[in-house]
Amino acid sequence: MLESPPIVRSFFEIGRIFLQTVHPMLKKLFQSFRSPLRKPQQHTRTTPEVLSSSQHSLQRTQFSRYAVSIVERLQNAGYQAYLVGGCVRDLMLGITPKDFDVATSATPEQVRAEFRNARIIGRRFKLVHIHFGREIIEVATFRANHPQDDEEEDSNQSSRNESGRILRDNVYGTLEEDAQRRDFTINALYYDPVTERVLDYANGVHDIRNRLIRLIGDPQQRYKEDPVRMLRAVRFAAKLDFGIEKHSATPIRPLAPMLRDIPSARLFEEVLKLFLSGYAESTFEMLVDLELFDPLFPASSKALEYNPTYTHTLISEALANTDLRVQQNKPVTPAFLFAALLWPALPARVLRLQERGMPPIPAMQEAAHELIAEQCQRIAIPKRFTMPIREIWDMQERLPRRSGKRADLLLDNPRFRAGYDFLLLRETAGEETDGLGDWWTEYQDANDAGRRDMIRDLGSKSEATGQGPRKRRRSGGGKRKRAGADASE
Ligand code: ATP
Ligand code: MG
Repeated sequence: MLESPPIVRSFFEIGRIFLQTVHPMLKKLFQSFRSPLRKPQQHTRTTPEVLSSSQHSLQRTQFSRYAVSIVERLQNAGYQAYLVGGCVRDLMLGITPKDFDVATSATPEQVRAEFRNARIIGRRFKLVHIHFGREIIEVATFRANHPQDDEEEDSNQSSRNESGRILRDNVYGTLEEDAQRRDFTINALYYDPVTERVLDYANGVHDIRNRLIRLIGDPQQRYKEDPVRMLRAVRFAAKLDFGIEKHSATPIRPLAPMLRDIPSARLFEEVLKLFLSGYAESTFEMLVDLELFDPLFPASSKALEYNPTYTHTLISEALANTDLRVQQNKPVTPAFLFAALLWPALPARVLRLQERGMPPIPAMQEAAHELIAEQCQRIAIPKRFTMPIREIWDMQERLPRRSGKRADLLLDNPRFRAGYDFLLLRETAGEETDGLGDWWTEYQDANDAGRRDMIRDLGSKSEATGQGPRKRRRSGGGKRKRAGADASE
């Protein structure tokens, strides 16, 4: 079939010529032979590997038509424009993308001039949001890494680090530079819906095939530039069920403490992505394994050390429930999640305060307050979530006290459901509550007469002794202390 080649070619070069003349199906087959044999390059190239439409599985129609029309319009106006990042990666893996990002050579102002429905936004860097009804397409100008970042960042962390990042992120660049500054090879794929070609600057297609998360460039340097990339590595590994490539995994443990210098507001956003994307349970395991959990949740990490089985069970159960709810498209509240993540750290604090002479109830309140305040220094949990965390915890003290009208009042409390679910969670993790969860399950199902009987039964037990005139006194140490103290056993 081949006409005698002018020079002796390697098997693969012959293959390439062959491919130009044969059926596209065979091309794909040949590619699957070819790629594993090629040694992957660690660094980005200045010329990309170009995959034509027959060499990849993507189809223009899989992308948001708005995103495609933005790319077309920018290209018609003379700019370079591509679909990029998560949407290309996810579609290659057969996953429905969360959103569609466009990268372009046009500056934000130039983009805005092209679209009436465009708004420039930007905290850390300027971006353009183009609105189509409820859909928003994010358009980012090609950017480059700041040339003199590393040493400065190594020695000066925290706020100066952060301001360094702001500067760096605002440096516009070429398409090649834009590919290089992206975090992982699988996130640096550019799809042109007009020519239907994929540009691969970092062997991202190779890593998608081999299911690997691999940083672009020198991993240690890239993590130091932005330690949040360590969390992103875990997030993508969990979401895509990928492994973290060896050289990208090794520096994580030693560099994990650098997360302490990341602004707490950014960490809050990242932690929500880690735990509310439907893969929280495996994410948690990976965070613990790579020692990233400790800088995020130092108090919970200590609890995990001192009381491993209980703490681990409680947190992973909570996360598994969250994952299930996400899969079922049910609403999930960050408050419940944080309440569970922090709960195992409470008993030790309560005890410490009690040892200093504080009575159980105030000790519990104070411990909760301290713990949340401390946690907020790492992860800025907004007030709209810290309030319900406290309410879920407070509910744990109130659920055992059911006499008189209290049970019905509790049922009417808007936080009842969360408090009850939390009680069940504690029981799953091995806390001894004297069948309280079952009692509440039965009470909710019972009719009026049944409920009256259940309360009467309680009255004949020790509950009657708790019937003082004032709530405060009735909340008496025993029960509240037990909920916390059980957790420490
Ligand atoms: P998803 O949206 O599914 O979570 P994504 O890959 O689109 O995944 P985004 O956070 O939306 O992630 O970021 C879009 C793209 O921007 C990424 O694919 C990556 O190329 C780049 N990027 C985001 N954060 C960083 C970072 N910290 N360092 C380098 N590149 C980044
Ligand atoms: Mg995205």
